[in-house]
Amino acid sequence: MLNILVCVKQVPDVNLVKIDPATGSLIRAGVPAILNPLDANALEAAVQIKERYSGTVSVITMGPDQAAEALRECLAAGADRAILLSDRAFANADTLATSYVIAKAAEMIGGFDLIFCGKESLDGATGQMASQLAERFDASLLSSVKRVLSVNEREKVVMAEREYTNGTQTASAIMPCLMTVEKTNYHPRIPNLKSWKASRTAPIERYTSETIPGLDRAQIGDPGSPTKVPRTYPLEKGPGGKMIREGSAAKDAAKLLDLVADLI
Ligand SMILES: Cc1cc2nc3c(=O)[nH]c(=O)nc-3n(C[C@H](O)[C@H](O)[C@H](O)COP(=O)(O)OP(=O)(O)OC[C@H]3O[C@@H](n4cnc5c(N)ncnc54)[C@H](O)[C@@H]3O)c2cc1C
Repeated sequence: MLNILVCVKQVPDVNLVKIDPATGSLIRAGVPAILNPLDANALEAAVQIKERYSGTVSVITMGPDQAAEALRECLAAGADRAILLSDRAFANADTLATSYVIAKAAEMIGGFDLIFCGKESLDGATGQMASQLAERFDASLLSSVKRVLSVNEREKVVMAEREYTNGTQTASAIMPCLMTVEKTNYHPRIPNLKSWKASRTAPIERYTSETIPGLDRAQIGDPGSPTKVPRTYPLEKGPGGKMIREGSAAKDAAKLLDLVADLI
């Protein structure tokens, strides 16, 4: 039986987030939180593997208490077990501190054959977590997986198609293996009413810095985070475009040439 872990993050819907011009920080208050979209693709890949080979899919997140909602969404979409790592001591964590806490918690809850991550989060978007987690799990890493072709549990080998600069690459890796997933072939399923209802009351395992054994406090939260973000800048919008409507294609082209000539 495969033991599969999916790392998920609850993110603010960035389409609705604004930046406070005075402080340069994100205004998150009142912005709805959603499951990071690429994590939903990773979960779908994990659930399809479970359905094909049998196993257990656990989802884990480090975040505030409200992140439990993202876990419930995953339970509705096929996850079997949900783990929330939440503690004020984890706040202001960068990727190094986050991957440390997730790896220590995973060590406590069981060994995993396959670990899935989204390629990047919608908000932080560093794309660093997968490689850091693979290192901490001492796992192989297959990034940009388009399709998992086979999982050989006995020989501990996973075979997958990866998106490659100019095409597709078939690659095999030794398990444990961490994969990030392309969304093309793993569209998140829409939960049926029964599984959605069950997810509302399903248990969520909660751990804090006190209940994860052996956590080094110097490696968690703010003290464990060498990355500091002093300020965030909004995108500056350039001048708007101009429509050319001179009445015919030839006149449009002539006008365009005039405008370009003015710029030279
Ligand atoms: C109390 C608390 C407050 C936090 N506040 C913030 C905050 O204000 N802003 C913020 O951006 N982050 C916050 N975090 C989360 C944490 O700091 C980031 O998740 C971490 O730095 C990852 O950075 P990223 O989003 O760039 O990762 P990326 O490398 O872009 O993410 C890639 C993938 O890694 C996995 N992943 C990323 N983050 C997590 C996570 N937390 N749990 C499980 N899997 C994950 C997902 O699969 C994701 O798709 C907070 C955490 C806690 C406990």
